[in-house]
Amino acid sequence: MHIHSTCSDGSFTPREVVELAMQKGLKAIAIADHDTVEGVAEAVAAGQERGIEVVPAVELSIQNEQEKDFVELHLLGYFIDHQDEELNDVLDRIVQARIEQKIRQIKVLQDDGIDVSVEEVFSLVKGVPGRPHIAEVVMRRNPGRFASKEELFAEYLTVDGKAYTKRSFSLTLAEAIKVVVKAGGVPVLAHPGAYDKVKDIEAMMCRAQGIGLRGLEIAYTYNKNRPHHGLAAAEMQALLARFKALADELGLVQTGGSDFHGEGKDIELGEMGMDYVEFQELKAKSSFIDTLSPL
Ligand code: AMP
Ligand code: ZN
Ligand code: FE
Ligand code: FE
Repeated sequence: MHIHSTCSDGSFTPREVVELAMQKGLKAIAIADHDTVEGVAEAVAAGQERGIEVVPAVELSIQNEQEKDFVELHLLGYFIDHQDEELNDVLDRIVQARIEQKIRQIKVLQDDGIDVSVEEVFSLVKGVPGRPHIAEVVMRRNPGRFASKEELFAEYLTVDGKAYTKRSFSLTLAEAIKVVVKAGGVPVLAHPGAYDKVKDIEAMMCRAQGIGLRGLEIAYTYNKNRPHHGLAAAEMQALLARFKALADELGLVQTGGSDFHGEGKDIELGEMGMDYVEFQELKAKSSFIDTLSPL
């Protein structure tokens, strides 16, 4: 219930994701690309052919000034009307800001003597550009310069890195929640345990609940993603339990998702997914009845 495709930084097309879901015997999936709904229609159509319910979704990136400059939060919008005009207008603005930001980031890398071109990076982009597109070209063009992609990110691309620049346009959390709700969707805060730069995540979630947040992503592949890569099973359980308790306390619906990006991460499609009852609970929070997917 939280999957990326080639429309953002995933390695499988929306149709390929649906095929894979079928092979795995999944009944429902959500395409939740970063700041775009471009992959939704293709996935919904493929899902109808294959008998899999495809939930129209999006993962909005928010640079939330209120918590701390540069802290990036991710808000999932599930069961959205992906044709909603206001949502699409906002997404266009975010994508434009991303394009402009990536060009600035590439220039910083070039000024530092790193071989990378705007054209080559953007030739990899099928929808929305992301830092992984830059990383792929830098690693390919500059063999030996960085021991790993992780090292490149640490030196240049993370928030504290030399090539990090802020986007010229970003939603606040309140605006992002509002745009998801207006598009009929359920706003869910993604991977709450991953925001290591937020000082008091509990307080932040209380505030988010007060401004319309309806759900929290509980089950999540923390041990396979930053900043908790390799987390031991017991610590992982503790992290999940901490946010489950908070969701219960705040009356937030609980979701689960793999954050599958395809190749390059050892995450399986469907990992940390939701059972049917949880899925129905989430669906019930949506005011958009997906007529495209009558399963
Ligand atoms: P962007 O959407 O351009 O901000 O890039 C975000 C994506 O970059 C994430 O979805 C991750 O896949 C990737 N990413 C972010 N930080 C790191 C890191 N430290 N190491 C590897 N990949 C990262
Ligand atoms: Zn991603
Ligand atoms: Fe995310
Ligand atoms: Fe994601």
